[in-house]
Amino acid sequence: MSRFWSQVARDLTPYVPGEQPKIANLIKLNTNENPFPPSPKVLAAIQAELGDDAARLRLYPDPNADLLKAAVAKRHAVTAQQVFVGNGSDEVLAHVFLALLKHDAPILFPDITYSFYPVYCGLYGVEFRTVPLADDFSINPADYCTPRALPAGRGQPEKSSKIGGIIFPNPNAPTGRVLALEAVEQILKANPDTVVVVDEAYIDFGGETTIPLVERYDNLLVVHTLSKSRSLAGMRVGFAVGHPALIEALERVKNSFNSYPLDRLAIVGAVAAIEDEAYFEQTCRAVIATRETLSADLAALGFDVLPSTANFIFARHPQRDAVELAKALRERSIIVRHFKLPRIDQFLRITVGTDGECKALTDALREITA
Ligand SMILES: *Cc1c(COP(=O)(O)O)cnc(C)c1O
Repeated sequence: MSRFWSQVARDLTPYVPGEQPKIANLIKLNTNENPFPPSPKVLAAIQAELGDDAARLRLYPDPNADLLKAAVAKRHAVTAQQVFVGNGSDEVLAHVFLALLKHDAPILFPDITYSFYPVYCGLYGVEFRTVPLADDFSINPADYCTPRALPAGRGQPEKSSKIGGIIFPNPNAPTGRVLALEAVEQILKANPDTVVVVDEAYIDFGGETTIPLVERYDNLLVVHTLSKSRSLAGMRVGFAVGHPALIEALERVKNSFNSYPLDRLAIVGAVAAIEDEAYFEQTCRAVIATRETLSADLAALGFDVLPSTANFIFARHPQRDAVELAKALRERSIIVRHFKLPRIDQFLRITVGTDGECKALTDALREITA
């Protein structure tokens, strides 16, 4: 804190991402990165864009990233006018909060969910209410269907039935539990005058995307990232698909913030990743297969493992303290994520790594829990 800080800077509670330690030979299972490298076509596209002397880097990139919008549109059978792209889906989400979720009524999201949502609410002054997950950590769609009274907010006992917006990840993070398409549709139908944002960061690992529903629901916005299923967390590319009117609001905010959120290399690299469908399917299948083995192995070690449709699993040991487990793993150079939050402070979130990394993890846990 310093006297130079604005009131806004003083009042912020920033998001704390999982650590990126600068230690070699670490088994890093803490931030849901993909264990496989990106498609080899990504490197080829970046090299082609660079050329021999990188002369193109002299020039600004396409502010609208039209090539990328066209690739997303083709892949998901929508029009380019239904696509918004940004510097990671975190940036897309930030614009969503300002452009589509900031109204004079609180927005709803689950009590256990992506912890960036309340941070954006703080940054943009968006009021929110959290909706408790069921005891089995699933989202109950009926809880998001109007006109049920909203749960009371902190310091706000008054209940109102007006909803400013709805956002949830599907599959949810950090639980990994997925909602079926029909359940998402139930929420969309019940809230025709409310934007419903479905953050599908992990949908490619076994869930069913809601993107086809954008044709029928003008209140639906679906957000995707290339960080997880396309192995490009280091490149920062995300996108949203929805009715052109929703996209236009996002463009207005984006063009009031940064004209060029995606650089030249990111645009061509992302296009190549999206076009390499065979590599994408192969790596997603491999992650899913490893996830199933890892879930079974952890269950055999006595862990309660939530059913996961993501590239991570969420598990707790009935007799072992989660913080102690994470500490013991770290001493063996394996890092996983622990959230010091109500209801989930005895869980560990474990990213699905390679088969070898997951075996090292289960071997370590067998030793630790013996
Ligand atoms: C990883 C993640 C994101 C952010 O992805 P980036 O594109 O890397 O910014 C967004 N939402 C959820 C739920 C995530 O887990």
